[in-house]
Amino acid sequence: MLKTILTVLLIVLTFSTSFADENFYISEISDEIFARIKGKSFKDDCTLPVEDLRYLHVLHKDLDGKTHEGEMICNKYIADDVLEILKKLFEADYPIEKIRLVDEYNADDELSMRDNNSSSFNFRFISHTTKISKHGLGLAVDINTLYNPYTKVVDGKRILEPATAGEYVDRTKDFPYKIDENDLCYKLFIEKGFEWGGSWKSAKDYQHFEIPDDVVAKLYPNNK
Ligand SMILES: [Zn+2]
Repeated sequence: MLKTILTVLLIVLTFSTSFADENFYISEISDEIFARIKGKSFKDDCTLPVEDLRYLHVLHKDLDGKTHEGEMICNKYIADDVLEILKKLFEADYPIEKIRLVDEYNADDELSMRDNNSSSFNFRFISHTTKISKHGLGLAVDINTLYNPYTKVVDGKRILEPATAGEYVDRTKDFPYKIDENDLCYKLFIEKGFEWGGSWKSAKDYQHFEIPDDVVAKLYPNNK
């Protein structure tokens, strides 16, 4: 009898901690969600099993403190942590302008970044390889992308993604949505074991948080 009561209690507790919040929750990729991503972020040549992905529903606040609904798809391995981070950012009034599925931009990263969208999964191989990129695995998250661009200088020429982020390359300037090492978003991702693209040496990817190579290699040993 006691065992039964304890079992029931455990089920109730598990259920309430996982699903208690109607605004912040995780689900598997339902048929309905799959239909939204198929042929877009989940490309026809996608070699990642859809079972490895999770759908996150969240709330986030814009610069004016207005609340919006957000949706993100990421790897199941980071789903709990990303949900927790986004919830803490919401509770701290940390501004995130948009959290939409990249599929709403036809899975076009450049368009998504120009719109300052925050997202994670978008299937792709690393150029000229059969190795899936970290966004392709859903193990990297980009936040407030227009204000935190990717940039690299190659042969004296600056590469900038999105191309419209010129105003935000100079990180000594102060502007909204800027991620740096004093930033709450930075701190929360680092606490969960992510690495920040703003710390990279040759390129800088200020919007980008990813799971380190050694951890990814353990999760996907065949992804070479
Ligand atoms: Zn990224």
